[in-house]
Amino acid sequence: MSVPISQQTIGAARVTRVEEMAGPGFRLSTIFPDWDAAVFEEHKDWLVPTYVNPEKMTALLNMHSWVVEHNGLTVLIDTCVGNDKDRMPAENWTNNQGPYLERLAEAGFQPEDIDMVMCTHLHVDHVGWNTKLLDGRWVPTFPNAKYLFSRADFEHYQAHAEEDMDRLSFVDSVLPIVEHGLAEMTEGDHLLAEGLLLEPAPGHTPGHITLKLESGADAAIFTGDILHHPLQVYHPEWNSRFCILPDEARTSRRRVLDFCADRGALLMPAHFGAPHCCHIDRAGEAYSLRWHHG
Ligand SMILES: [Zn+2]
Repeated sequence: MSVPISQQTIGAARVTRVEEMAGPGFRLSTIFPDWDAAVFEEHKDWLVPTYVNPEKMTALLNMHSWVVEHNGLTVLIDTCVGNDKDRMPAENWTNNQGPYLERLAEAGFQPEDIDMVMCTHLHVDHVGWNTKLLDGRWVPTFPNAKYLFSRADFEHYQAHAEEDMDRLSFVDSVLPIVEHGLAEMTEGDHLLAEGLLLEPAPGHTPGHITLKLESGADAAIFTGDILHHPLQVYHPEWNSRFCILPDEARTSRRRVLDFCADRGALLMPAHFGAPHCCHIDRAGEAYSLRWHHG
């Protein structure tokens, strides 16, 4: 059972998860071109009911942000779908009226408290709350924040001519941030503060980035959509149909899983169901996971 707000400490850092919604329920065979029903049978005992709906064979995915407080910085990672946005044909994302900002407030964060917003990549479900609707215009939701976008993703979606959801979100949730002078384009490694390292992890999108948190013996890595679903821990060669550069996506996925296994770091993805983060162990050529209940 997922609760909308949860908090844990990792070393000296505090990490808060704020959920926007649960969904979408894509069919596993739609998300994963390499889907194999035998894999479901093998892992059924832990997949049902939290991670797979066995009647529809859909993936149960979450939509949440992580807020990291460390060394004087408050960083909001991924901003979900947002309210009031036109996201047709995704009806459940269109004109959303969710209590996301109320939940952030309940967790102790006013929009003014956020120092940095980091979008792991510029897909529609990672940029939505960058902006909010005010008097008919899209304005930055977090007025004091520096918004970190990777330059490679920005340039990719700037040149993206197809009128799809990622184009809509680029126009209403990314460009207004640039126009307000709050965007910072990152290239290569970028140390935000001691123990908070932003790194390129291309593949899912050309400029996907991750954030490593290290504090003493403890570590975590915020991985956006490097993995969409926990089954990819067991099948790291499985890309989602949304991965733009297949070979790079596989390389980045293995690099992230290797880091977790070697460093004992928590994997903190954008869409895993409860408890939303896990430890990674090696298992032959692949990996296995241990859920972390914070
Ligand atoms: Zn996503």
